[in-house]
Amino acid sequence: MYRRFGSEVTIVEMGPCLMDVKTKMFPKPCAKSWRLRGYGFGPNAKCISLAKRDSRIAVGIKCDDGPPEVLGTHVLLAVGRTPNTNDLGLDRAGVATDQRGYIIVDAHLQTNVPGIWALGDCNGRGAFTHTSYNDYEIVADNLFNAGHRSVSDRIQTYALFTDPPLGRCGMTDAEIRKSGRAAVATKHPMSQVTRAVEKGETHGFIKISVDAETKHILGAAILGTGAMK
Ligand SMILES: Cc1cc2nc3c(=O)[nH]c(=O)nc-3n(C[C@H](O)[C@H](O)[C@H](O)COP(=O)(O)OP(=O)(O)OC[C@H]3O[C@@H](n4cnc5c(N)ncnc54)[C@H](O)[C@@H]3O)c2cc1C
Repeated sequence: MYRRFGSEVTIVEMGPCLMDVKTKMFPKPCAKSWRLRGYGFGPNAKCISLAKRDSRIAVGIKCDDGPPEVLGTHVLLAVGRTPNTNDLGLDRAGVATDQRGYIIVDAHLQTNVPGIWALGDCNGRGAFTHTSYNDYEIVADNLFNAGHRSVSDRIQTYALFTDPPLGRCGMTDAEIRKSGRAAVATKHPMSQVTRAVEKGETHGFIKISVDAETKHILGAAILGTGAMK
């Protein structure tokens, strides 16, 4: 956002990439996209330090003393989230939470107190917009349509509201390898997607992995415009 406003922005990150850190699927393409958009990018910053330099702030990004460090006027620190459950009076209702404050739920998202469900980020089962919405779908279906839906049946999806956005579902490359299945994958650059060309946003690609025998889609990822639709 600040880059779009015209500020110089450097993203300093402990991992190889901000996107999909768990699966490490997209370190190179996303770093490239961000550099092309004019962000500085300091990946693998294992020893982040802050120091005052006159009116500016120096952010050290390597364990060794001295450079490389990034000089800036402001630091925005984003290091995780905690559930905002401590002021809900859950203890008075007898609703159990774990050590981090997440409300403990079963696979149907019911708490330990009959008649109380916990949906969304507060139950620690998702932490995404779409998983929060899917929590609602599960509970509403079970309550009002006599459904038997469960959060453990949820197909894994991943949506990141970045620029370019990333949408992913199904198995990752690592999961496919671990499963021992024979699979084939195809990768299609966004520069060959007409809508991306029309919009002038041709960064990224579409990748789809298919079971070589059954031809079933095992996993898909879109890094690029429209990936969140
Ligand atoms: C910086 C950031 C980036 C994110 N990026 C992504 C992303 O790229 N992709 C993605 O899928 N998700 C992303 N998320 C996560 C996504 O926003 C959440 O998973 C989603 O909003 C959770 O929905 P929710 O309904 O559970 O909670 P929320 O959207 O947090 O809604 C909870 C509501 O409850 C209200 N509330 C809290 N306490 C009380 C109270 N005592 N009384 C009454 N109301 C109360 C709050 O004000 C809030 O409106 C991001 C989140 C953050 C913070």
